[in-house]
Amino acid sequence: MAKRKIHITDLILRDAHQSLIATRMRTEDMLPACEWLDQAGYWSLECWGGATFDACVRFLKEDPWVRLRQLRKALPNTRLQMLLRGQNLLGYRHYADDVVEAFCQKAADNGIDVFRIFDALNDVRNLETSIRAVKKAGKHAQGTLCYTVSPVHNTESFVAQARAMVDMGIDSIAIKDMAGLLTPSAAAELVGELKKHFKLPVFLHTHYTSGMATMCHWAAIEAGVDHIDTAISAFAGGTSHAPTESMVAALHDAGYETGLDLQRLDQITQHFREVRKKYHQFESEYNGVDTAVLLSQVPGGMMSNLANQLKEQGALEKIRDVFAEIPKVREDLGYPPLVTPTSQIVGTQAVINVLSGKRYDTITNEVKKYLQGWYGKAPGDVNQELQRRAVGNEELIDERPANLLTNEFHKLKDQIGELAECEEDVLTFAMFPDQAKTYLEQRQAGTLQPEPLEPRPTGKAAESISTEFKITVHGETYDIHVTGASPTSDTERRFYMTVDGVPEEIALESLGGFTKDGTSSGSQRSKVSKEGHVTTTMPGNIVDVLVQEGDDVSAGDPVLVIEAMKMETEVKASTSGKVAAVHIKKGDRVTPGEVLVEIE
Ligand code: MN
Repeated sequence: MAKRKIHITDLILRDAHQSLIATRMRTEDMLPACEWLDQAGYWSLECWGGATFDACVRFLKEDPWVRLRQLRKALPNTRLQMLLRGQNLLGYRHYADDVVEAFCQKAADNGIDVFRIFDALNDVRNLETSIRAVKKAGKHAQGTLCYTVSPVHNTESFVAQARAMVDMGIDSIAIKDMAGLLTPSAAAELVGELKKHFKLPVFLHTHYTSGMATMCHWAAIEAGVDHIDTAISAFAGGTSHAPTESMVAALHDAGYETGLDLQRLDQITQHFREVRKKYHQFESEYNGVDTAVLLSQVPGGMMSNLANQLKEQGALEKIRDVFAEIPKVREDLGYPPLVTPTSQIVGTQAVINVLSGKRYDTITNEVKKYLQGWYGKAPGDVNQELQRRAVGNEELIDERPANLLTNEFHKLKDQIGELAECEEDVLTFAMFPDQAKTYLEQRQAGTLQPEPLEPRPTGKAAESISTEFKITVHGETYDIHVTGASPTSDTERRFYMTVDGVPEEIALESLGGFTKDGTSSGSQRSKVSKEGHVTTTMPGNIVDVLVQEGDDVSAGDPVLVIEAMKMETEVKASTSGKVAAVHIKKGDRVTPGEVLVEIE
């Protein structure tokens, strides 16, 4: 006898490649599979939101709105689903309500049917506006529980959160286990309680990271879950998700309906197996089962990004230290679930704590804003001493943060001006101001170029690739271990390596490869040798220089703002005195140990 139907959402177009290849899949590799995806019989396809929007603008030089319209056209019979960060939308800050409303309306107009809406702190006040806006647009608003494990989270707290969301008018409830922390028995308990208390469909989204995803889905199905999220097997497993085909085969054998056909799924997976090879340079080092996640709680997408970022900085060997630091930072912040943007906030602070060797010697602007209440209410108590140090004499916020924001759509529209050809462009600018401006300028100039992809090493070349060398210079021999390299550009390539165990960054320039102002683009800055020398603990880009030569500064005053790992950090004066020299300007790329500002 046929059992009830289990509805399936495939994540191939969003979370699967976000988790495994740092969100780099291009639209051109999605479209050829759309006919099969559309005929397969999925309840929905998750295809937008999360980090896809950022990656399109930043790396792929694609218009994310154009991608959505193309997918809408190519998938006429299947619901399209997106992941939305409540009041953060797809950016990393809170937006005023008018921007949230405009964004939801435009996403609906361009093709999204199902909005999975979450707040990183599970503060439901941050979901109010987007749920209302999605309902107004006539679309499906899904309320999300960000699953996490901590002394302040339990089944009762999740049921209470679900009740608050049900009262706001949601159409379904999603359990979002972004890090793969859920165990089969915890899944069964939570699903059972949600089904007992509410009439709404319950969805389960879990990651394969700790190896338990298929077991969790099975336990959840037996406990009454209605929908599960899977990834076609070519992009399943590791920090991604349970394989679609395995779940479908198991369900069919047990008498459940899915509406999916294994033959069709095989065609789809063959396509994406080939596609995946093209993006080999973005494959994470950690794409097998990793139970360390049960300790660090780092979600899949974050883990692959963290590994990539550390690799770029020649500090990949520190990744275990960073994983050990993350739970400490998380406790100090009152146990936020680790999901964008809290995963970046916690992750970046942990990286800074590890690289600088001193915990909270430097506090990111985002940690300060978090402790001030600008992201909402932390699930547990925060470290009050850290809060005092970070916030200083400024006021704490205890209401819905967006209440304090005045409408800003028109301001954003004026700021971006004629570069924006439509409202969608203004929203893109609202999400990622610097990246979007560059994108829109390049679009206008007709110079958009996606980041280059490295060709796959084949045959003899593949066999001869080595990352460890001994080099003798002026009679001294050094052990070199190359840990990463920047993509090739016309004039310069950066290699990240350890030299006798010490991380170094080396820029190779082709002859004649000079920047516009005639200076070499390699760093001309000297290394820190005196107390008044200000440097950075992380490689990054200078966002703002806050002092000029001749200024008087006190120890601890911010002197510049640096962006690293999508996070801005103030770099502070190490001593009091007069600014004797400023060696950087806005936009410069800097690395640890370089003298950026001199104070005497
Ligand atoms: Mn996910």
